[in-house]
Amino acid sequence: MSTVVEKVDVVIVGARCAGTAAAVPLAQAGLTVVVLDKARFPSDTISTHVLVPNGVQELKFMGALPKILALNPSKSHYLTLHDGDVEITERYKPFCGIDYAICVPRDQQDAILVETAREAGAEVRERTNVEQVVWRDGRAVGVRCVSDGIEYEIQAELVVGADGRHSRIAAEVGAYTPYRASKNGRGFAFRYLDDPLGTDAPDALEIFRADGDQVLVLPSCPAGRTLVVNMTDAATIPDFRRDPDLYWQRMLDRNPMLKTRVGAATNLSKLRTTDDLSAYYRRSTGPGWALAGDAGHFKDPVTGNGMRDALKFGRLLGEAVATTLHDPVRLDAALRGWEAARDADTISTYHWGNRESRPGATSALTREVLRTFVGDDEPNLSDTFNRVRPIESVIHPGRLVTGLVNALRAPGADRRGILRELRVELPMEISLRRHRLLDGFRSTKPTATERPGWSLGPEPQAPSCRPAAEPQTEAAAEAESQTAQVSQ
Ligand SMILES: Cc1cc2nc3c(=O)[nH]c(=O)nc-3n(C[C@H](O)[C@H](O)[C@H](O)COP(=O)(O)OP(=O)(O)OC[C@H]3O[C@@H](n4cnc5c(N)ncnc54)[C@H](O)[C@@H]3O)c2cc1C
Repeated sequence: MSTVVEKVDVVIVGARCAGTAAAVPLAQAGLTVVVLDKARFPSDTISTHVLVPNGVQELKFMGALPKILALNPSKSHYLTLHDGDVEITERYKPFCGIDYAICVPRDQQDAILVETAREAGAEVRERTNVEQVVWRDGRAVGVRCVSDGIEYEIQAELVVGADGRHSRIAAEVGAYTPYRASKNGRGFAFRYLDDPLGTDAPDALEIFRADGDQVLVLPSCPAGRTLVVNMTDAATIPDFRRDPDLYWQRMLDRNPMLKTRVGAATNLSKLRTTDDLSAYYRRSTGPGWALAGDAGHFKDPVTGNGMRDALKFGRLLGEAVATTLHDPVRLDAALRGWEAARDADTISTYHWGNRESRPGATSALTREVLRTFVGDDEPNLSDTFNRVRPIESVIHPGRLVTGLVNALRAPGADRRGILRELRVELPMEISLRRHRLLDGFRSTKPTATERPGWSLGPEPQAPSCRPAAEPQTEAAAEAESQTAQVSQ
């Protein structure tokens, strides 16, 4: 097969949240940007899709928000949590004037992201499968891809892998195996339905926790359609697959408030499930390459922050590269700075996701800590999702101590059980703070929130008929990591 050779400034693999968000500022800076995706849009992907205000603002920055709002999504202005006798309702604070959450199905949302990137001047090519990174003197200088049976070599000064969790680009650059990761104890089972409360439905993203389930009721798109997501013990996901309706009904039966809320729903879509949710960080930059969005980092979706981070750090990658692209030394330094900023912004939520994704029912201690949020006038618990500050500053030591004292004092308290739990939780509190404040860039020291047994599936292989690529050596990666630690 003969190869068509092209030359552009930046080639991006993956045209969803991270890829399109990176493409927009690059194209707006007048650079030639090609975004390649094997999908044909509109195209769905396994993901629920809530964006809280801090994430919605990224759609605004990108220029996609007017088209998204034209789809008529519900706008939820409140966050509500029900857990036993604890009930918390908060109004979101605004970010760039946006004080609502939305939840637009990925096929519709991502098609608009592609359109927005094209309008900014990026060329988005669909049904194009990227197979290899092209290397010169240890530097990524392009990709090889196939579209409509034609092979292309697209040469570029920067290769961005925005190709998701099972990233081919991560494999090609030798970064597929994470340097830190954690097994997820929860799986997802979700479906759409017509909201049985119609126009009386609360103007809220609701969380119903009961008996080990964490169920989200997410007003979706178009208004009147609702997404219900059970984040439940991963071990029960095979049951949901075997008999979806039986296990959905059992979920409603053990969660009476949820049953009252959505039990009478009609027009239920097929149930979708996954238990493939290990969280991780991969080495995400190197000479001439970067991994954006899930390709570089994934945290448990219980945090509702994956798209926000892919959009935000896609945008910031584009902005960082736009002014440094033509000087390899400055470009690589900008990439490392971008990666370090992503890590600093996401690490607290990663640990939170690891803790929240442990299966099991709410303990007396956790419930008492949650109770400390009841009656707060200012949005506060929602700061966990909106990422105004690290989670440890939202669920801070004062709350933990108050919760502990109240749990121990409660009539009939199982004090031994509470102290046993404390012995598990305390090391986590200490180690995640230590990790955020003291451990360096790409530190590999395991923390107490991380669970062994994570899996990302087999590494994608380059087609055997093509010449082997030249991935970065371990020694080069190590040297680069040392440089980044020094430059912190
Ligand atoms: C069950 C579940 C629920 C979630 N719920 C939420 C939520 O409610 N809120 C939230 O914010 N986040 C959620 N997330 C996380 C969110 O889905 C991701 O963080 C987000 O999709 C990351 O976007 P991305 O652009 O990095 O990658 P992706 O969305 O994975 O896109 C990668 C793209 O790369 C393309 N691609 C891959 N390989 C190649 C190749 N070789 N050649 C060409 N193209 C290629 C794919 O076709 C795909 O279009 C959830 C995730 C899961 C799994």
